[in-house]
Amino acid sequence: MSEKNERRPLPDPASAELRGLISDAETRAVYDVLYQAREEPLAMPAIRERVSALTGKSNLQMDRRLRSLRTHFDVPARRVPEKRNLFVYPLLGWNPDADKRTTRKNIPGSVRALVHHTYGNRCAACGRTPKDDQVKLVIDHMVPLDLGGTNDPENLQLLCDEDNHDKQALFADHQENADALRKSLSLPEVHLRIGELLKAMAGEDVPKELIVLVAREENNGDPTKRMRELRSLGWIIKNSQRKKGRRVLSFYRLEHWEPWPPGGPQAAVVRLERARRRAKRAQKAPSGTDLRSTAVE
Ligand SMILES: [Zn+2]
Repeated sequence: MSEKNERRPLPDPASAELRGLISDAETRAVYDVLYQAREEPLAMPAIRERVSALTGKSNLQMDRRLRSLRTHFDVPARRVPEKRNLFVYPLLGWNPDADKRTTRKNIPGSVRALVHHTYGNRCAACGRTPKDDQVKLVIDHMVPLDLGGTNDPENLQLLCDEDNHDKQALFADHQENADALRKSLSLPEVHLRIGELLKAMAGEDVPKELIVLVAREENNGDPTKRMRELRSLGWIIKNSQRKKGRRVLSFYRLEHWEPWPPGGPQAAVVRLERARRRAKRAQKAPSGTDLRSTAVE
């Protein structure tokens, strides 16, 4: 760790120094927002909103931009007390050593303690505890380090030995899909991430756990809902279940896919939902003529 780096003042958002470090204007806008909010760090929705206001663009790839900022600057995710899934992102200074984030042994004790506290000393998968169930808990990287996961607290969870073992076995079984997983994880929208993984593994049974991994949504997301949304875009995805030991495993198999709609899948899904709601309202409140014609039929 370099002392010099820690004391070096942060560059002004409009400075040539920052432009020299970061060529992408949107990433500099993220820096600008974090820089202005140093005293009172913001959560992601507020950051996104302000960056959109600065750049005039929505649909920004915030995860990727934050990752690229973190190669230069120290921007930890801090959990808001009492709110398990809310994080604020303080811009603390220069990143003293970017490489430190990416090895398992460098999870600081304070972060380990935080993870144990957040998960109430329970396995995130089965809910068992050392006290009641005599299980041993380990800290797990939700996105594994070799797939680009970090030691940031939002990527860490507690798993019991057994669930941790199952997860490692799952990734060992899918070694050949590592590139597809890495590529999916780098995409900006949840439907793209899930859809591109399904495409890369088309015709194979893709375990739900891999879908949850690339979805990168809070509380393991809602894979059933995401599959429904992809189906609404014309995709054919078969779901199957298989029993394995004490649990039921769920798989998704892609049988047909459609090109991504212009403007991206997220916007298309929102449009479809809006149209469906309008159609429902029209059905509920028919005009007098409609009533009569229905009665005649
Ligand atoms: Zn467990």
